[in-house]
Formats: sequence, C-alpha cells, structure tokens
Amino acid sequence: MLINKLFDTAIIGGGVAGTSLLFTLARYTDINNIILFEKYDEVSQLNSNPKANSQTLHVGDIESNYSYEKAGKVKKASSMVANYIQNFNEVDNVGFRKDKMLLAVGEKEVSELKERYYKFKTLYPYLELWDKDFLAEFEPKLVEEREEPILAMGARDQITTVNYKKLSESFVQQALDTEKNIQMRYNEEVTKIERNEDGTFTITSDTTNFKAKSVVVNAGAYSLLFAQSMGYGKEYAILPIGGSFFFTKEKLLNSKVYTMQNPKLPFAAIHADPDVTQEWNTRFGPTAFALPKLERYHALHLKDLISALNIDKDVTKVYMNLFRDKTIRRYILKNFIEEIPLVGKEVFLGDAKKIIPSIRVKDLTFAEGYGGMRPQIIDKKKQELLLGEAKIEEDGLVFNMTPSPGATSSLSIALSDALGVCKVIGANFDMAKHETEIQSLISHSDVEPIAEKVRA
Ligand SMILES: Cc1cc2nc3c(=O)[nH]c(=O)nc-3n(C[C@H](O)[C@H](O)[C@H](O)COP(=O)(O)OP(=O)(O)OC[C@H]3O[C@@H](n4cnc5c(N)ncnc54)[C@H](O)[C@@H]3O)c2cc1C
Repeated sequence: MLINKLFDTAIIGGGVAGTSLLFTLARYTDINNIILFEKYDEVSQLNSNPKANSQTLHVGDIESNYSYEKAGKVKKASSMVANYIQNFNEVDNVGFRKDKMLLAVGEKEVSELKERYYKFKTLYPYLELWDKDFLAEFEPKLVEEREEPILAMGARDQITTVNYKKLSESFVQQALDTEKNIQMRYNEEVTKIERNEDGTFTITSDTTNFKAKSVVVNAGAYSLLFAQSMGYGKEYAILPIGGSFFFTKEKLLNSKVYTMQNPKLPFAAIHADPDVTQEWNTRFGPTAFALPKLERYHALHLKDLISALNIDKDVTKVYMNLFRDKTIRRYILKNFIEEIPLVGKEVFLGDAKKIIPSIRVKDLTFAEGYGGMRPQIIDKKKQELLLGEAKIEEDGLVFNMTPSPGATSSLSIALSDALGVCKVIGANFDMAKHETEIQSLISHSDVEPIAEKVRA
C-alpha cells in the first residue's frame, strides 16, 4: 500500500539520535510533516536504553581517553543535553546531578593526572584536585585497604548521569506538543529506501510505502547497511564490540569514578557508576569484546552481520594490526574471559580493585540483561578503526553511525542534520530560539570548592 502524503522528513530509528532530531525539527524549524519509524514497540530499546550504556553525560573533563581537542568538542555537544535537561525541567527525571572524578593510582598516574589537571582546567575551571585524606572522607571505599598513592581530579554537583531512554521520551513528547503533524510509527521496520526520479524518496516498511523529501537514518549498526544498499559508504565496515557490566550487591560509591586510560587501548578504561536503574548501586564496566551480533539481546540476522563486517583485505589488515600489539591481544583475551560465567568475575576483579581495593569476588555479580553493542567503524581506505561517530550525507539523505559518545552528542548531531535538511528542502531554522534554549552555555562555576587544591 502507498500512503500518498508526501512527508518533509522521514527519520528511521527511535533511539536518542532519531528522537533528538525529531524534537529539533519539530521545535526549531517550520517543517510541518515528520514521520519516525521505530521497529520495536517503544523508543530506545537498544543502545540508548539505560541498561545498555553507562548513562554518562560525557563532558570530557574526567575522560582520560579524550585529547584536549576532543574534550573541547565533547564539552560543547554535551552542554546541549545539559541545557535541555535544565531548561525543559527534566532534572531528577532525565538527568541527575552527582559528583564525579578521574582517579589516578600509583606514582606514575598521579603525576600524569596533575599534568592533565593544569591543562584541562583551562577548559573546565570548576575542576578540583582531591588528595587521599580528602577522599578518605568523601569516598571512603576508594581509600580502604589502599597502599599506593592516589589522587583524583573531580567536580561536584554536575549533571553526570542521563537516562537516555527518558531523554528520548521527553524529546518525543516535546515534538508531539508542537502544532506539527508528527507520525510515530512503532513496530514498523523499514526494509528499503529508494531515491525517486523527482528527488523524493520512497521508504518501504514491512507494511506500507511512504514518500518523503528528505530521509535521516539513525538506525545504529543498520545505518551503514542502508547506506551500502543504496551504493554509499562502501569504504566503511563495522567491527561490532559488545560491552558488559558487573554490579555490586549494594551501593559502594556516591560519585562516578573514571580511571586513567592506557593510551595503547582503543576503548575507555573501566569506570564505576551509580546506576539509575538499580537504586544507584555501583555498576562497573563496560568491558569490550568482539561479538558477532548487531543487537545485543535480539536474534542474529546472519546476512546483515556478513554485510556489516564487510570483510576483505583492508578490513583483515585492521584486525591483524590490532592483534599484532601484545597489550591489545591480552586485553581482547581478558575481556573475552570476563564473559564466561563464574570465571569472568574473578578476572574482572583486578579492574574493580583498582577503584575499590577492599572489593571481593562475592561482592560482584554479572549484570545479566545489561550491556550493548558498539558499532565501531572501520575506514577501509585508511585501514583504521575510527573511534567516534561517522556520518554519510548525500543530498537529502543522511546516515548516522553513533558509537560512544553518541548519546551525549545527540542534540549536536541533530542540529547539524536539521540545518542540512532545511537547506535541501528550503525550510527555515529558528537559530535564535535554539541558541536560547539549547546552546547557551550553562554555568558550572556556581558550586563552591570543597577541597584545597593540592600543590603539584
Ligand atoms: C556499553 C556501552 C556503553 C555506552 N556508554 C555511553 C555513555 O555513557 N554515554 C554516551 O553518551 N554514550 C554511551 N554509549 C553510546 C550510546 O549508547 C550510543 O551512542 C547511542 O545510544 C546511539 O543512539 P542511536 O539512537 O544512534 O542508536 P540506538 O539507541 O541503537 O537506536 C537505533 C534505533 O533504530 C531502530 N532501528 C534499527 N533499524 C531499524 C529499521 N530498519 N526500521 C526501524 N527502526 C530501526 C532500533 O530499533 C533502535 O531503536 C555506550 C554504548 C555502549 C554499547
């Protein structure tokens, strides 16, 4: 069946990426007809679900896997989500104010952290250095049974934790509250996108055909498969990386605690996070291991996996390069063993102990039903594993691939896609309103310092 109505924009995928674009188009443009397809019965059932990700708003201040330049970009993108949460009264529903820190353990990490502190303070003036005596009172579990020197760089009372599913629901509600014609098509899987001769697109779902002037695909790993089925993005492949978590049986920490990155490793070091779905019990993770799936807890479609892996000599070379390095080889093996019942948590314990030295195997449980898939992109031309987001844009058609920190960057990606859509279909964007509500920088400096600065 063909629905005759011509939509201005069709969005494929109802995760935080798709819904942030829906909100941005509905509230800040004069576009009237928008349709969003989601193959499951609710928004954010996959990676944007709080059980799948670490619920962190990545501001770049405590993430030691980010360079100064990357931190600057992430800071700007994350402030849009923080502004949304504040300006749309979603504090304590979508976003939560908590304390957070980057913890250095041992002489070498402590001296690296001091260096990082003085550099990064220019970007984040609210950062403080917290020494062992201070931490013994502030987060005692970090210090109990600890012999090595430690130091933390932290911040208090920041929006650190976001339930990205609730954020998606809030975006949808805001869009529906406008006067626009918004169609939410749940339980409807898009199977094909075609470009018509008149420049419009036909979108085929499992039940119907629709037409739209522009299409944005925010379908996780499937974005690349859609692009490739239309002849774009052949230079990319996907390396699906699973991420799992471990819970403690009770709440041991009040703050988010990130650890110092081993620069040789491609994925962020383990952290401990108070979990929004488990009454703020401590959750450790994520691990990182190659898993032949595109969606963590759903049936595997082998054909899709083979297309996504796109294995040829360039992709094989990227795998070989990863395996050639001894540190990465050991990391891959360790993360793989961590998935094995009973043995897994014994191996994971070492990472957990770096944060809480007094923790025992009996205190940890594998977080059953938690964890997600990071669709990491391989650039075949450069024979490189890309670590951030990637986008393919072709005249009214956009495909977004959004591994971490894609949820944090959702409103920033939505802004650039909305501007692109407006240009292609001749619509207007109300930048002044967007600047006031979303882009105006919130102040982080309204919290009094609690700790004396430690002298470097
Ligand atoms: C272990 C882990 C930890 C992470 N931690 C963080 C973190 O702390 N902070 C952070 O910012 N980011 C984090 N991320 C990354 C973050 O989860 C993702 O960047 C983000 O959720 C991506 O959102 P999305 O909407 O693009 O994808 P998804 O949330 O996966 O949504 C894609 C949607 O498209 C739908 N879809 C797919 N195909 C079709 C189709 N054919 N038709 C209709 N619908 C379709 C799916 O059903 C799904 O709802 C983490 C990721 C993982 C795996």
